[in-house]
Parts: sequence; structure tokens; C-alpha cells
Amino acid sequence: MIGFLRGAASLRATPPAPEPHVLRINGRDVPLRFKRNARARRMVLRLDQKAGGLVMTLPRRTGLAEALRFAEKSLAWILRQLEQQLPPVMVAEGAQLLLRGEPHKIALPPQKRGVVRVEGGVIHVPGGPEHAPRRLKDHLKKLALEELTSRSRHYALAMGSAFSGIAVRDQKSRWGSCSAAGKLSYSWRLILAPPFVLDYVAAHEVAHLKEMNHGPRFWRLVLTHCPHARSAKVWLKEHGRKIHSLL
Ligand SMILES: [Zn+2]
Repeated sequence: MIGFLRGAASLRATPPAPEPHVLRINGRDVPLRFKRNARARRMVLRLDQKAGGLVMTLPRRTGLAEALRFAEKSLAWILRQLEQQLPPVMVAEGAQLLLRGEPHKIALPPQKRGVVRVEGGVIHVPGGPEHAPRRLKDHLKKLALEELTSRSRHYALAMGSAFSGIAVRDQKSRWGSCSAAGKLSYSWRLILAPPFVLDYVAAHEVAHLKEMNHGPRFWRLVLTHCPHARSAKVWLKEHGRKIHSLL
């Protein structure tokens, strides 16, 4: 019983988290929410990937004034995070989208019929704006599958291996994978990245058909056939999040 009473008392002693706030940073309003964690020992600030804005975890006794001072001290960090965080692309007339690493404009012609086509930096998506997001995504998935199949075949031939199947998916956690049964699986969003990046991911997964690990022999195989692997890895590290926020 004593334990229970003590627990209840400390629960009561934890004040509620402060009300949400809006930070004005470089002319932009950035929402800031607070969460109370009685066991936290220091303040922790992170991006709210789902809702946008920031979330700050506060230890039991930290008040609003102290929390805002901490946010102010973290301004440089917040700015860096915001720069990397782009709003998801809306499929609307004139909206910009990366395709093979190049900015393209989306056009929604009024025709009810017709196929999605890419011409002179413009992606035309006919068939009514309500169906445009799905039609555009389907088309990009088709392009991704074509390109990844062609590049995977190229590397399989060069490395002397064969795969049993290939698919593109909407996987957020990884760019590609290779099953023990020899099935390759890729993120369709690779079609948004520059060709040398898509190329590297294909070489990487095909190399796993021979080497199911990331050991020195695996990397030697990748680098022999794909000398730009390092710069592609750097590109994915720098821009991967941006690519995932699209659509
Ligand atoms: Zn791997």
C-alpha cells in the first residue's frame, strides 16, 4: 500500500505539459508541442514527422519559460532540420516534382482520357484532378519497374548471377532488398532520384545475389561494377528524406 500511495503522490506532483506554442523562425510559423515525461532528465527536441513542426519532451519540473529558452538556444539545429524537411508535393497544376533527379512540372490537362506522359520537363496527367495522384503514382511505379529491371539485368549479367523475381514497393525504411530466394525488391521512389543513384541501388541488391552480407568481398563486387557507389550513397544520405516526403 505504501508503494501505491507514494506512486500516486508523485503522479500528482507532475504538472501538465504547457500548451502548444508557435515559434516564429525566419518569417515562418513553426508549431511546437510539449510532452511531459516524468522520467526524462533533460529537454529533448525533435521533429514531428507526421504532424509537422516540433515536439519537445520536458522533465517533470521544467516550465514553459525554460522550455522556450531551450528552443531559442536550438535555433541553428531547428533551421537545419527545417531546410531538409520539404512539404509533401501536392499533385496540382504547376506543382514541382523530381523525376530522375530533374525538376519537372505537373500539368493536369482537362481531357478525361489519355495516358500520363512526360515531355519537355512537364508531366501531363489527364483524367480529372481527383484521380491524378493515383494515376501519377502508378505511372512513376511503372517507370521505376522498367528502369530497375533493365539495370538489374545489366548488373546480373555483368556479375554472373541471376534473380528470380523483381518488384517495386512503397517501402519507407529501405531502398532495396534481396531475398534468400533471389527476389529483388525496390522502392519505386528511386525513379525520383538521379539515374546514378538508382543504378547504385540496383548494383547493390544484385551483388547480394552472390554475397548476402556487407563484407569486403561484397563491396569489392559492387565497386568493380559500379564505381560511383560512394557518391550515390552520399546522395541518398543527403536527399533520401526529401525523396520520401514526395507524394
Ligand atoms: Zn545491402
